[in-house]
Amino acid sequence: MTDEQVILLDCDGVIVDSHPKFMRLINAKFGTVFKISDIINYKYEECLGKEISDYILEELWHLEDLYDDAPVPMIIRDMIRTLRDLGRVILISAPMAGHATSKMRFLHRAGFKQSDIVFTWDKAALERAFPGALLIDDGPSFLKRHQGPKIIFDQPYNQGLESEITDCLRAYSHADVYWLAVDLLYPTVSPVVNI
Ligand SMILES: [Mg+2]
Repeated sequence: MTDEQVILLDCDGVIVDSHPKFMRLINAKFGTVFKISDIINYKYEECLGKEISDYILEELWHLEDLYDDAPVPMIIRDMIRTLRDLGRVILISAPMAGHATSKMRFLHRAGFKQSDIVFTWDKAALERAFPGALLIDDGPSFLKRHQGPKIIFDQPYNQGLESEITDCLRAYSHADVYWLAVDLLYPTVSPVVNI
């Protein structure tokens, strides 16, 4: 382990959320009134039905301009900036081929240099490369395997996962992430108070 703290920051569901855009497109196409809060687990089919699930997985996630109108709100910029005070922030993502270029354009807008972006479908390889790194993610797959400190970013579809993921803290907002990261990367022993 190097002296430098490394923070592995997930993209989708943490610094950008495509679901609002998906809901608009779905409701316009199918005449439905789905809301983001209707996506209550990782199986789109269970939440929205098979036809819409196929539409999301086969078309929407592959839009070539998927992230081009995605905002980078100040609270996201502040989170990234303050995390950089704690260590090297590496953006990790497993992009679809269709949207990869758009995602890269978005990440540049969010202030990530090429050298701090890793596109991979084998996120476990990052753990081998950066043992002990702090992982901030919204999805269970990598969080379950990750051996280092970890923060799950709160979303409607990842409620209750702490029972499956050991030693994981939940961030309910982007502002929470920094302080949880401080606690995990720089734990302090509570002072003994004599009464
Ligand atoms: Mg994610």
